[in-house]
Amino acid sequence: MSDKRTYVVLLGVPGAGKGTQAKLLEQCTGLPQVSTGDIFRYNLKNETELGKLAKSYMDRGDLVPDDVTIRMVRDRLQQPDCAQGAILDGFPRNLNQAAALDEMLAPHGGVSVAPLINLDDEETIRRITGRRTCRTCGAVYHILYNPPKVEGVCDIDGGELYQRDDDAEETVRNRLYVYYKQTAPLIGYYFAKGLLVEIDGAQAIEAVQQALLALLKRS
Ligand code: ADP
Ligand code: AMP
Ligand code: ZN
Repeated sequence: MSDKRTYVVLLGVPGAGKGTQAKLLEQCTGLPQVSTGDIFRYNLKNETELGKLAKSYMDRGDLVPDDVTIRMVRDRLQQPDCAQGAILDGFPRNLNQAAALDEMLAPHGGVSVAPLINLDDEETIRRITGRRTCRTCGAVYHILYNPPKVEGVCDIDGGELYQRDDDAEETVRNRLYVYYKQTAPLIGYYFAKGLLVEIDGAQAIEAVQQALLALLKRS
């Protein structure tokens, strides 16, 4: 028996806008954002064992090992707030993780749709270098494209905005390399399953959001 849920897998280079859109979709649909990057950063901040393990990989811009990451996502998707599905942001990141996700979701109808947010490399760099993140709630801003009302201060909770360590130029270069080598093959993987839908990520935040909402209505 299959109990059908909605699982959205957001694909795109680092900086394409996955986190921004996942948070907006969470508000519109009630499906929770499951961001592996956010979970790792939370553990880093709280100096948990998981955070200590993830740190060296994240500092280099490499992927945290699959066994740890897959276990973490399996646990997260079993939480009660994921009973109707989830918006996955930053997972899967390679073919092994994609296969593990298919196995996890098999009893629930599998991945529903895999939107690919397209963005060229030059704009990607601009997005990443201007990104600022709230230390307390994780909200994402951009110094030019999506500035907070008061510079350096989160609109939502007044938290301090900081630049992620892994948004430094050298780490960004490795993260893009890792993306093209390990994550980009997922485009073919989901295309072959008929789940891939390309979206122009160069549009304004609201336009990308509308495109995603239209897509969710159809899937
Ligand atoms: P990802 O989660 O894919 O790494 P983010 O959602 O963190 O990307 O977005 C990267 C940066 O680009 C952030 O600073 C965000 O505010 C900004 N951004 C996201 N979407 C858009 C957009 N459509 N137009 C302009 N800036 C955007
Ligand atoms: P992100 O917030 O998605 O840009 O992720 C930040 C960093 O967290 C990545 O550069 C990786 O080091 C780690 N990370 C996030 N998601 C994954 C994943 N699915 N698999 C392995 N590492 C991940
Ligand atoms: Zn905040």
